[in-house]
Amino acid sequence: MKSTELFERSLKVAPGGVHSPVRSFTSVGGSPIFFQSALGARLTDVEGKEYIDYCQSFGPLLFGHRNEEIANIVRETVETAWTFGACEPYSLELAEFITANIPWVEKIRFVNSGTEAVMSALRIARAATGRKTILKFDGCYHGHLDSLLVKAGSGLAGTSSSDSAGIDQEMIQNTLVLPLDDEEALENLFHKEGKNICAVAIEPLPANYGLLVQRVEFLKKIANLTKEYGALLLFDEVISGFRVGFQGMAKVLGIEPDLVCYGKIIGGGFPVGAYAGKGIYMDLVAPQGKVYQAGTLSANPLGMRAGLTTLKKALRENPYETLEKSCQTLTQSLVSIFNQETSIEWEEVCFGSLFWFKQKTVEPIRRVSAIPNGHKENFAKMFHKLLNAGIYLAPSGYEVGFLSTAHTNVVIEETIEKAKAAFENK
Ligand SMILES: *Cc1c(COP(=O)(O)O)cnc(C)c1O
Repeated sequence: MKSTELFERSLKVAPGGVHSPVRSFTSVGGSPIFFQSALGARLTDVEGKEYIDYCQSFGPLLFGHRNEEIANIVRETVETAWTFGACEPYSLELAEFITANIPWVEKIRFVNSGTEAVMSALRIARAATGRKTILKFDGCYHGHLDSLLVKAGSGLAGTSSSDSAGIDQEMIQNTLVLPLDDEEALENLFHKEGKNICAVAIEPLPANYGLLVQRVEFLKKIANLTKEYGALLLFDEVISGFRVGFQGMAKVLGIEPDLVCYGKIIGGGFPVGAYAGKGIYMDLVAPQGKVYQAGTLSANPLGMRAGLTTLKKALRENPYETLEKSCQTLTQSLVSIFNQETSIEWEEVCFGSLFWFKQKTVEPIRRVSAIPNGHKENFAKMFHKLLNAGIYLAPSGYEVGFLSTAHTNVVIEETIEKAKAAFENK
């Protein structure tokens, strides 16, 4: 089997040959690799070639592919029950574990994706405040719900229009968008519209349009304004939750959100999302309250038990500091290799086990408009060199990279050696 042949076939049966846009390699050019299997930090493609994987399925795999402890619980679950559509103890255990360890999560509802989580949390915000307006930030991605597909990040980044066809103006007329990192714009907007805003949705660590690390003061300003004007603060921690630390960015920043959304790591590699927060808001959800939300496969045992095993392991082993050090070693070494060979000067952005490569700039990049021209093209060249050398990054210059605990020092050394050889050979 060859990847190119499989892609030819895929193009006939799936739009663009894929089931999520970035996978198609349109951002980096060339034909996508088809992967056959994965273990730890490594992928094997359908042609038998191995890669060291720094995409890690875009974030869910804190402990790498098919971690043994998680694999064991998955095997046990397959022999127990796949789905009931009824009450079971597994989601209870996960809900108890999260609420016991994250103070601002009093109640939680499990869904099947990050998109669903954000969509449902916004429904609560409208119901709780009786207001319609949502504020979001340019470059933050919150899934593909209609009302937030306005200047979003992720697969939309780098395309000519950041909107989507098929979304009527009516669906986004209550969404306001501001640039990140701009307190003045924020204050002006709240001054005019603050009383109409039901929620401010933000990725507290924007990681879907590069890695746009925000100043704490900016996020504190948002928190203060939402409080002052009676809007809810919604932290979208779908990427950052359990990734930058067990309690996510809320803990790192010292800001307690009213509502928080999780995804990715929370399901240990299975499709799970969650929205959560203070009891007064969560109790508005059906059947206790009047905010309807339901799901056939919600809280399915595979996701719940893989998720609980993952989160328990994260709390017990506390891998975060080690991950951050490894991330710095890796990215600093890679940047010095890139900079010996390429015409532009690269620089790494690292936050915990998340990383992004960008052109060196005088000031840190905190908003979309500060990303230098040519970024996409420069990334594409570097991406293909690394890919050839058996190093797999997410196939877009606007996606971040991820480390897992499976990226041991040995794996990182190997990555650096492979990159060196690739860049020396041009
Ligand atoms: C991945 C992501 C989502 C969407 O989650 P899906 O499970 O892909 O629907 C939402 N918000 C953020 C911050 C994300 O990174």
